[in-house]
Amino acid sequence: MAHILSPSSPGTPSGAPTRAAEAASDGSLDGFPGPSPAEAPGVPEVPSVPLDAPGVPGPAGGTAPPTDPAPPVPRGGGGPVPLPGTVPAELADELVAIRRDLHMHPELGNHEIRTTGVVRERLEREGLTPRVLPGGTGLICDIIPVPEGGPGGTRGARSRRSRPMLALRADLDALPIPDTKSVPYRSTIPGRAHACGHDVHTTIVLGAGIVLARLARRGLLPHPVRLLFQPAEEVLPGGAQDALEAGVLDGVGRILAVHCDPRVETGRIGLRTGPITSACDRLEISLSGPGGHTARPHLTTDLVTAAARLVTDVPALLARRVDTRAGLALTWGRLQTGHAPNVIPQIAELSGTIRCLDIDAWREAPDLVHAAVDEVAGLHRAKSELRYVRGVPPVVNEPGSAALLGEAMAARCGAGSVEPTEQSLGGEDFSWYLEHVPGAMARLGVRPPGEAGAVPRDIHQGDFDVDENAITVGVELFTAAVMLDAEER
Ligand SMILES: [Zn+2]
Ligand SMILES: [Zn+2]
Repeated sequence: MAHILSPSSPGTPSGAPTRAAEAASDGSLDGFPGPSPAEAPGVPEVPSVPLDAPGVPGPAGGTAPPTDPAPPVPRGGGGPVPLPGTVPAELADELVAIRRDLHMHPELGNHEIRTTGVVRERLEREGLTPRVLPGGTGLICDIIPVPEGGPGGTRGARSRRSRPMLALRADLDALPIPDTKSVPYRSTIPGRAHACGHDVHTTIVLGAGIVLARLARRGLLPHPVRLLFQPAEEVLPGGAQDALEAGVLDGVGRILAVHCDPRVETGRIGLRTGPITSACDRLEISLSGPGGHTARPHLTTDLVTAAARLVTDVPALLARRVDTRAGLALTWGRLQTGHAPNVIPQIAELSGTIRCLDIDAWREAPDLVHAAVDEVAGLHRAKSELRYVRGVPPVVNEPGSAALLGEAMAARCGAGSVEPTEQSLGGEDFSWYLEHVPGAMARLGVRPPGEAGAVPRDIHQGDFDVDENAITVGVELFTAAVMLDAEER
């Protein structure tokens, strides 16, 4: 694979002052849910470091690693800046092979056994200690700065090792649709395809882990990093919630992710501050009444009229109770009632979705919908039962984290490689992590350069594929973000 980015240079990011003992990140997730990281100043250094594992070569004993600060990254202009953490050509080739292997063996949400094994085995071969999540699929893996002077040394390492972790998140699962491509690496499993690019995300975070582990051995890792490979992104409400319950964010101060975007050219990312995806919830309503003869609706509850009024009046009420700019929309997908022209039915059922661009409005949506349904049903003397199924909130990119991704991309590919992107109406369970820690997601360009005029193959289509050069771009974006995230948070 082409090694398209700038070569590595020695030197570390600025040795910025670090907060005392933010979190002892080593082993904080052993035995899910793990113990909370130590937060009080003066917490003793935890000696267990994955990179100290036997057989993992550390830096030359007694040789202090370089401490030159990396050059500052220009904001809003300038070309790429050399930063450690580039992808050597042989690793780029290996990552493409891994991606193709994953692509040929897609697994659905919470069934990513083989995929978990592939990632785990490769991380272990790098001397790391990945830990599988309690559900049996998905894993995390911490990369901790090696003490200066080698694994036995302590100089300067304590502050770096105790900083909050920067998490890099990937999702592992595929979709229940057939792979319609004719490529050597097409899916070998009927009715399943990696049509959302999660094989690419997994490979990128794995590749970043390999590169960062090597930097850590050279004493160049500025702070701990957690690789997070979550299962079941495509399954509502998303595997992120199970991962959170397992404690995957313990000790994490910031989380970053990318998602493949076939509308963006390879070597570029789409980025925005604030919401970048939308919320999507589900609504199921059951109306009931005594039923009766259509000759005497005044003696019973006219359930057909009540259901019809619900269909028009509930969205109308919401439109006057929620700020229009929140973009909250209730759209019905199903209405079922009645059996005969002269019988007033006893049951009516309605279902639909709520989509919402704004996270505050999304938080209020269940109460507002409940109230509106009760009011309209009550007006028609119908008994109502509402089942409001939470989906996912919008992914809201935190400004500092979005800026970090932008600076990292500019450092690798130049300031012109970051383009604005719009908020989509799609859902993404990465949003659940952002309810707990700041973070951001970028849209990673996967469209081959020169295909600007062609209709891009969208995600969730059976023939979706990517320009595999995007894997190296993604890895180097993440490693640059890790190197630049050296400032105190
Ligand atoms: Zn998807
Ligand atoms: Zn996806």
